[in-house]
Amino acid sequence: MSVDIGNKLNPCMYCGLPAEKILRENCGPILRIRCPECNRALSGASFDELDDEWNRVNEMRPVAEICADDIFHVHTYRCKHAGDEEDEEYVRRAIELGAKRIIFTDHAPFPGNPFGNRMDIEELPEYIASLKKLADRYIKYISVQIGLEIEYLPSFDEYYRKLAANEDIRWLIVGQHFYEYEPGVYSFSDSTEVKNQCEAYGLMEAMLTACDTGYFRVIAHPDRAFRRKRNWTEDMAEMSEKLIRSARENGIALEQNISSKKRKHQYWNEFWELADTIANEEEGKPLLLIKGADAHSVAELVL
Ligand SMILES: [Zn+2]
Ligand SMILES: [Zn+2]
Ligand SMILES: [Zn+2]
Repeated sequence: MSVDIGNKLNPCMYCGLPAEKILRENCGPILRIRCPECNRALSGASFDELDDEWNRVNEMRPVAEICADDIFHVHTYRCKHAGDEEDEEYVRRAIELGAKRIIFTDHAPFPGNPFGNRMDIEELPEYIASLKKLADRYIKYISVQIGLEIEYLPSFDEYYRKLAANEDIRWLIVGQHFYEYEPGVYSFSDSTEVKNQCEAYGLMEAMLTACDTGYFRVIAHPDRAFRRKRNWTEDMAEMSEKLIRSARENGIALEQNISSKKRKHQYWNEFWELADTIANEEEGKPLLLIKGADAHSVAELVL
């Protein structure tokens, strides 16, 4: 299917080709904004306008898209399992790599700091302030954007609502590393046997519920839910199809996680082939994909 996103694009930022000649095309699951003259991807140049236009056309919240010039999904030292570099070093390296945007999505805190491996709730204002300062300082070179990666745990609904309403936090993304049975009872306490049996289903169900809340823009590493699986099965295909269709209906992007590719059983080609098939159906909204670095150090920044 093709999508008309209107005429609000800017002229090509590289060769100046007028806006009306810029190509918008749906290539498989990916919406591409491309200059036919110099063949560069252009979405970074007019992202805000694209957001507005998508909102108008789709009557839904802003959406994401893969853009060759973005570095998406970056952590900081605050999560306690990343390199100790300052935020500014990430920004400077991203500029060096030629990125047009760098989107920080550090592991979000929860009120009362009940979980490890993430920033403390007391650090959140400083995280936002630090990135805002860098956004101002480097505005001529790169767009620095603020986000958080967070598990969807139903009993914290009110907290997600607040985060989603915070105008400084542009990217609230689901990173479902564990799930909640009931308040205070979480899957990370399960035995290995139970995890092997149930984890994939629990993580997938949590992500599905998250899709319907309206709080989140991206589902990070959806296929990592199958990290304990060794072979692709019908069950996995069924769960995946439900999630892909829900993400598409809700205008939520699915993240192809670069760091998952480096680990065994975390990146499933079968999942993304299914996504491609669904994206190419005649009917339905476009399926949005976004590429995520999941960088936990400056060295892991990739374009
Ligand atoms: Zn992490
Ligand atoms: Zn994650
Ligand atoms: Zn991450």
